[in-house]
Amino acid sequence: MSASDSAIAAAEAHTAHNYHPLPVVVATAEGSWVTDVEGRRFLDLLAGYSALNFGHRNPRLIEAARAQLDRVTLTSRAFHHDRFADFCTELAELCGMESVLPMNTGAEAVETAVKTARKWGYRVKGVPEGMAKIVVAANNFHGRTTTVISFSTDPEARADFGPYTPGFQIVPYGDLTAMSAAMTAENTVAVLLEPIQGEAGVLVPPEGYLAGVRRLASERNVLFIADEIQSGLGRTGRTFACEHEGVVPDVYLLGKALGGGVVPVSAVVSSQEVLGVFRPGEHGSTFGGNPLACAVALEVIAMLRTGEHQQRAAELGEHLHHELSLLTGAGAVRAVRGRGLWAGVDVDPARGTGREISEKLMDRGVLAKDTHGSTIRIAPPLVISKEDLDWGLDQLRAVLAG
Ligand code: PLP
Repeated sequence: MSASDSAIAAAEAHTAHNYHPLPVVVATAEGSWVTDVEGRRFLDLLAGYSALNFGHRNPRLIEAARAQLDRVTLTSRAFHHDRFADFCTELAELCGMESVLPMNTGAEAVETAVKTARKWGYRVKGVPEGMAKIVVAANNFHGRTTTVISFSTDPEARADFGPYTPGFQIVPYGDLTAMSAAMTAENTVAVLLEPIQGEAGVLVPPEGYLAGVRRLASERNVLFIADEIQSGLGRTGRTFACEHEGVVPDVYLLGKALGGGVVPVSAVVSSQEVLGVFRPGEHGSTFGGNPLACAVALEVIAMLRTGEHQQRAAELGEHLHHELSLLTGAGAVRAVRGRGLWAGVDVDPARGTGREISEKLMDRGVLAKDTHGSTIRIAPPLVISKEDLDWGLDQLRAVLAG
């Protein structure tokens, strides 16, 4: 049995089977490349579902983490620590907002936003107690907690996990008329959307949709919550995907790349009016805003401030989409969507399932993952070189030709 096979068998024997990983056992990684336990190298075109926007073990982030490991790693929020103010100030500034509520995972940030919007609805907007409604989009992916899957439309994500949390209305993504009808002024406290739906297959909404939602939300005193956990922090060629439509939401949800692929860091970022609804004891997390998380995230924010990663994602993204567009209609590829260094490639199901395509890519030294059905997601680290990206695309072309 190979080292990979025995590691996989041992894992299978002692873990819940809530994932179906590709059969690669990573031992080390650097930049856009990982090496497995047998010494084989793979180009990473998934980048930790966009948590690794700055590449594996980015030297600046590793150095920031190391320096913080030598000082203090955790205080809990029972005490102050000396990285917290800088983190909140810098992140608020990057977002053009005023206030930050740090958590750890994406799903926690979404949960926090749901609680924030409801409390804001009751305390500020004057919605009758227990009547708050949040409008969400079909095919959303916002995480795995019981409340978050309560408003999922994916049967797999929901089955057997009820009873579900009420208070959500689901409308088709990209449909402003449906959004307007659902966004009743009296009880609606928020609309929660991914500006580009990642897990659904990198779905970009029709032009004008986000701006339209912004307009409706302002007219009806409803909070526009943009879940930029996957789309944000450089992936699309801008700091936030909302920027492509010149839209500023009321609340940003950030995660994944905020922790640089080193530590889990998420945050709800908004105004004082909105996040000011919380009082001591009403919300929290032992690890949220811990010194190690703040130190790494501060370096992430500093890297984003220069705009170089966003620019790189925009430029390389243009190249990626040009190359992918040449594949479209040429048999194997049905459609390509996305922005920046982020693409959903719909492969003709006759050529194999997304899983089969991913396995063939793996055999050629490329790690990518299917989203739904026959859609392959391409989301390399933003630091990938053009040569590596082109090599990865060569492998994709070869797999699709074969
Ligand atoms: N929101 C979006 C848009 C996501 O893509 C994800 C994860 O893929 C989440 C929330 C959940 O993040 P986490 O897995 O860190 O809980």
